[in-house]
Amino acid sequence: MSYCVNCGVELAEYIKKCPLCSTEVINPNQPYDFANTPPYPEYEPITKQRVSIKTMLGILAVIFAVPIAVCLVADLSDSMLTWSGYIISSLFTIYTIIVSALVIHRRSVLLEQIFDYGAISLLLIYIEYQSKGGWLLSFALPLLGGIALSTLFVTFLAKVLNKRILTVISFASFVLGALCVLCDFLIKFNFYNSISIGWSLYPLISLTAIGTVLIVIDSNSYLKRRLAKKFFI
Ligand SMILES: [Zn+2]
Repeated sequence: MSYCVNCGVELAEYIKKCPLCSTEVINPNQPYDFANTPPYPEYEPITKQRVSIKTMLGILAVIFAVPIAVCLVADLSDSMLTWSGYIISSLFTIYTIIVSALVIHRRSVLLEQIFDYGAISLLLIYIEYQSKGGWLLSFALPLLGGIALSTLFVTFLAKVLNKRILTVISFASFVLGALCVLCDFLIKFNFYNSISIGWSLYPLISLTAIGTVLIVIDSNSYLKRRLAKKFFI
């Protein structure tokens, strides 16, 4: 029985190198027997097969084409297209968002978001046009615009302050609080004919408090060190 001269691990007879530290095994009393094969197969690292983005988009297009075709056939059986437009436009929007995640995301997260919000706006415009709902300009687009500006602002901030995560989270809390107020205001204004806010004050106050605490912690390096020590971060 041999042992590794470097790490002391017990060595099998058929190995040329220590399995633990890769030190070469030289034992004049027990020379390496080339005919003696190890009782396990050679290690072959698993190489991940990467599917190209083009192939992925092609497969997804086929997957999306099936429900679109089914909807068209089912809707046409009533001799006129009525409801299938909603499903087809929604699927088209989802496909567009997947394309932007696969293609544009690597270049720019901000550009990806602008593309996504553009696609969602088009879907909303279509639904409004078809259903004659009267909610697009006064409710859906302002709310989507608020959400879009918020996520774009937080993404931009995360890019600029890449190491100061707590400050980014605190600004995200402020923005989320403001979004709640916008949502509350738009609901009241559109569906209750009132210019006021109600429930949104609770998330606004809590999120502002959380954001303030986080920004204070992030700007005070002594406090940050103490907290990191206390919570084993
Ligand atoms: Zn060793």
